[in-house]
Amino acid sequence: MAYEINEECINCGACVDSCPVDAITEGDSIHVIDADTCIDCGACQDVCPTDAPNPA
Ligand code: SF4
Ligand code: SF4
Repeated sequence: MAYEINEECINCGACVDSCPVDAITEGDSIHVIDADTCIDCGACQDVCPTDAPNPA
């Protein structure tokens, strides 16, 4: 299991520092979670202003 960031992402970057395993990087239009690194903790969803990260 991993979280995925949907199209509601506004590229604010708030989630990057919340991730304990550094799984989130900035993409072209939205931020992206590396599914192989994500440990499914939900911290990124808690800090996201648009609720873009969700369990895949
Ligand atoms: Fe996108 Fe939410 Fe992360 Fe901001 S906190 S970059 S809106 S996923
Ligand atoms: Fe990182 Fe946790 Fe979000 Fe996965 S669910 S990307 S481990 S903060």
